[in-house]
Amino acid sequence: MVEMIERGLTEEQRMMRDAIRAFVDGEVTPFIRKNWEREWDMKPESRPTRELLEGAHRIGVRTLGIPEEFGGTPVDPKTEVQTFAMVAEEISRGDSGLGDKLTQIWKISKLLQNIAPRHLQELWFPRIVEDPTFLLAHCLTEPRGASDRWLPYDVPEAMMHTKAALKGDKWVINGRKQFITNGYDAKLYVVYATTKPGAGMTKGTSSFLVPRDTPGLSVARCNETLGGRFMNTGEIVFEDCAVPKDHCLVENTALTKAGVYFRPGKIIQASKNLGIAVAAFEKTADYVQNYVQGGRTLIKHQAVAIRLAEMATKICAVRSLLNEASRAVDEGAPDAEQLVNMAKLFASEEVFKVCQHAVELHGGNGIMLDFGIEKHLRDAAVFLHMDATVDISKFKIVKCMFPDTAGVYAGPEN
Ligand SMILES: Cc1cc2nc3c(=O)[nH]c(=O)nc-3n(C[C@H](O)[C@H](O)[C@H](O)COP(=O)(O)OP(=O)(O)OC[C@H]3O[C@@H](n4cnc5c(N)ncnc54)[C@H](O)[C@@H]3O)c2cc1C
Repeated sequence: MVEMIERGLTEEQRMMRDAIRAFVDGEVTPFIRKNWEREWDMKPESRPTRELLEGAHRIGVRTLGIPEEFGGTPVDPKTEVQTFAMVAEEISRGDSGLGDKLTQIWKISKLLQNIAPRHLQELWFPRIVEDPTFLLAHCLTEPRGASDRWLPYDVPEAMMHTKAALKGDKWVINGRKQFITNGYDAKLYVVYATTKPGAGMTKGTSSFLVPRDTPGLSVARCNETLGGRFMNTGEIVFEDCAVPKDHCLVENTALTKAGVYFRPGKIIQASKNLGIAVAAFEKTADYVQNYVQGGRTLIKHQAVAIRLAEMATKICAVRSLLNEASRAVDEGAPDAEQLVNMAKLFASEEVFKVCQHAVELHGGNGIMLDFGIEKHLRDAAVFLHMDATVDISKFKIVKCMFPDTAGVYAGPEN
């Protein structure tokens, strides 16, 4: 399996991967094992990853998506998404929560590089680079549901309830967002709001840059998750939250301009997911070659060997599709949109099954919190719902393939 990872990498990517692997094996995995009880501390502040963020900072991984002129880590643009995929997988092999935290910085930085005015880039990028604890968040989901946003249905009924109105020289935001990655800890938020009610999602939704200390922004709570628990999702409330006029990043057509975030975003999701599977496989492969039942090591039992083969095959299948989709995004290929959705969807379902095998092959140990295998299954479960549910992802794939006939099902009931 290692050969397959190595095959597609450039010399530069290989060196980067070695550095990250050393960080993950030397710092992240031991940290997670040692601190497993802290995953269950219901005070989000007590679920520590400052040490790990500092480590990621040290090896340059935290600032990958930030332009080099502002101190970011340079990446060859021709293979940028493939590099993101490789790094996301490696980090998530150590801990998917840490992967969530870091990849959000890269994704949102790429978005800001494309849509934020120059003076705001000059202000924020150096701050992100300097501060190892600086996290970013991207806020679409609301308590009323997010699936409509993913399709997106261009009918007034599907529009966001969070609204923004221009009053004098300020945009005033009112509303509520939930389940936001890094929402509890972020220092800077990209927030989507309806600015033209009745216009449809793609014609009346704007995006705004909102610093955490803006009056009217409050973090209501941490949404406690089943997996990825070293990343704190959050619920954020906006009450007459006023930002300067120039903090409107894209007026009215924000969702159509967000592809630069979403396409690499799906690749990164699938890659983090794959990292979980690889970690589960590595631990299981080790376990079945050392643990003895029925007078012989587990792997000598055919049923066990078959399960291990299934795990490996699923991992390689996910990696193949992911490689193809990453290349399509880097090349700007016309089928990139459907491929990224396929990769994200396929990874979420297959990795969940890989982790189920891992838990079952560990028997009772697989269920015990202090053993650490069940964490992979919990982490994998989250990916079925992040960045669109399984069903909505399938819907999106069909919409890409048959745009005229699929996905026109929203609107007032007849
Ligand atoms: C750990 C985590 C991190 C997240 N991070 C972020 C983030 O950073 N930013 C952000 O904006 N969001 C984030 N989300 C939210 C995520 O994108 C949504 O949870 C997801 O898109 C599903 O939306 P929902 O939870 O509102 O479910 P709903 O939209 O309420 O869906 C409920 C069910 O109905 C089904 N359904 C809905 N509409 C249809 C339809 N038209 N046809 C068929 N079935 C349908 C869905 O498939 C699902 O099974 C995160 C979620 C999680 C779990």
